[in-house]
Amino acid sequence: MTTPQQLFALQEIDHRIDDIDAERRKAEQRLAAGVNRPDLTTEAEHHRDRAVAIRTNLGARRDDAERLRERLNGLESRLYNSNTSRRDLSSLQREADSAKYQLNQLDELLLELEGEQRTHEASAVSALDQMKAAESEWESAINALNARLSELTANREEATGLRQSLASTLPSADLQRYERLRRTKAGTAIAVVDNGRVCLSCRMTLPSNVLRQLRNRDAQVPCSTCGRILYQP
Ligand SMILES: [Zn+2]
Repeated sequence: MTTPQQLFALQEIDHRIDDIDAERRKAEQRLAAGVNRPDLTTEAEHHRDRAVAIRTNLGARRDDAERLRERLNGLESRLYNSNTSRRDLSSLQREADSAKYQLNQLDELLLELEGEQRTHEASAVSALDQMKAAESEWESAINALNARLSELTANREEATGLRQSLASTLPSADLQRYERLRRTKAGTAIAVVDNGRVCLSCRMTLPSNVLRQLRNRDAQVPCSTCGRILYQP
């Protein structure tokens, strides 16, 4: 004869195994999903590419500025040359003014481009830094998950061993009944009786005839409402 206490002890082990399996499934799913592996490579590449393009543009614009400055120097030396005629002077002056204006515009553009280049270079570096930090975080998350999984495997083996040694002492008809109840009653075949009169699984107050039967602590008495076997600790 199997007592409710023995069945309850078996159920405690089964619940532990259920919890282990649920946690294992979750950890395996997270591992399979890649645990949100971060990827900022494309962002870093984008900024690096932009910085390179701007550097090329800057090189060309600096050459433009250099040529313009040489032209301006030439114009100015002619302007200050005492042999230049008056008529030529005014046209030379206009040309020099226009070259100066263009040079100013170009210098402003150069400053702007230099600023943009620095911004993109800094963004590329920070994207890479963020990626490194996120990757090491990712790695430790994976390691923690794998460590937890091996812990869970060891725990499950231990619980399974305990279950086998307990189950081997119980009559197979009682075991089958218990397992059938576990399947049909959401994993809980044995219900604890609280306050001497309430089934803790379905929360119903037990009628007096059931309470009378429960005085025999070795009897397998089903709850009159949910049908689980009652256990009074
Ligand atoms: Zn019940």
